[in-house]
Amino acid sequence: MVVVMAPEATAQDINAIVELVRTAGGEAFVSRGVSRTIVGLVGDIEQFDAPNLRSLRGVLDVVRISVPYKLVSRENHPDRSVVRVGGVPIGPDTLTVIAGPCAVETPEQALRSAHMAKAAGAALLRGGAYKPRTSPYAFQGLGEKGLKILSDVRAETGLPVVTEVVDANDVELVSSYADMLQIGTRNMQNFGLLQAAGSAGKPVMLKRGMNATVEEWLMAAEYIAQRGNLDIVLCERGIRTFETATRNTLDVSAVAVAQRLSHLPVIVDPSHSGGRRELVLPLSRAAIAVGADGIIVDVHPNPETALCDGAQALIDSDIRELASVVQHLPPIVGRTLTPAPAPKPLPVRVA
Ligand code: PEP
Ligand code: MN
Repeated sequence: MVVVMAPEATAQDINAIVELVRTAGGEAFVSRGVSRTIVGLVGDIEQFDAPNLRSLRGVLDVVRISVPYKLVSRENHPDRSVVRVGGVPIGPDTLTVIAGPCAVETPEQALRSAHMAKAAGAALLRGGAYKPRTSPYAFQGLGEKGLKILSDVRAETGLPVVTEVVDANDVELVSSYADMLQIGTRNMQNFGLLQAAGSAGKPVMLKRGMNATVEEWLMAAEYIAQRGNLDIVLCERGIRTFETATRNTLDVSAVAVAQRLSHLPVIVDPSHSGGRRELVLPLSRAAIAVGADGIIVDVHPNPETALCDGAQALIDSDIRELASVVQHLPPIVGRTLTPAPAPKPLPVRVA
C-alpha cells in the first residue's frame, strides 16, 4: 500500500502517517520526489485502516499496489517522472544524451572526450573512475584521481558528471564529486550498494543486470527508492543471449515494457549493447524510435590506445552523424534534444 501525499503536506503530516503505521506494527518508507512525496507501507496492511489513513491531513490518496515494486511502479504514479541531474532533465518530453569515455585515463583524454561529447549533442558527461572489470588484471580505473579529473572537466565544459560507484564504501566519496551515481550491470543486485546509493542524496542511474528480468530490475530500483530517493533513471544496456555477433543483445522491448510498468525514465546504452563502433548509431536510432528518454554513448579521442572498451567508442569522424541523429529523430517521436548547460563563468580574480 502507498500513501500519496498532497503537494502542500507538511513534515508533521508525513510523520503522523509514519507513526500510525509503526504503532500498527508496520514499516513506512518515505520517498520525496520533485512533485510529491509518497509513503510506502510494508506489513499487515489490514492493520493500517486505509479509510482512516485517507482522512488524515495532507493525504491525497491511498493506493493498494499489486506489484512488488511499489514506489517505482506506475500504478500509484501514472505520470512519467523527470529526473534532474545537475539541472539537466531526463524525462518524457526530451532526449538527453550522456557521452564520454568508458574510463577516465588522463586529464587531456577526459577533456577531449568531453568536447567530443558536447559536439555530439550531449548534456551530461560520462566517465568511469572505478571500473568493474571482468578480469582483475585489467585497468581498474584511476579512483579518486579520476573523480578529480572529471570535476575539472565539468568546471571547464559545464557538463554535469555521471560516474560509476562499485563499492558501498565509496558511495560518499563518489557522491562528493558526481552529479549522478551510476550502478553497473554487474552490481544491479548488490543490495547494500543500492541502499547506500539510495541514501546518498544524488540521482542514480541503474543499469539493467545482464541476466535480469525487467521485474528484477524494477525491484532493484525499489531498493534505492525505499531509501527515500526517487531520482532514479533506468538504463537498458543489453542482456546475455545465445547471440555472439554482438557483445550483448539490446532488448529494445524492455524499454517500452519498463516505461509501462514504472514512472522512472528509461535510457539506452548502445555502446555496451553492441560492443562495436559501427553498431552504435543504428542502435541509437532504435533507442530513440522505441521512446527511450536518453542514450549513453562511449566516445574516445584515440580508441586504439584506450584502456577500456576502445572497440565500441565513437571517434571524431562519427560525431557529426550522432549529432544529426539526436537532433533530427527526437521531434519525430515528440521530443526535443536536451541542450547542454552553459559552463559557469570562472571566478574573476581581483589583483
Ligand atoms: C560502463 O558504462 O562503463 C559499464 C561498465 O557498463 P555496464 O555496467 O553496462 O557494463
Ligand atoms: Mn565500458
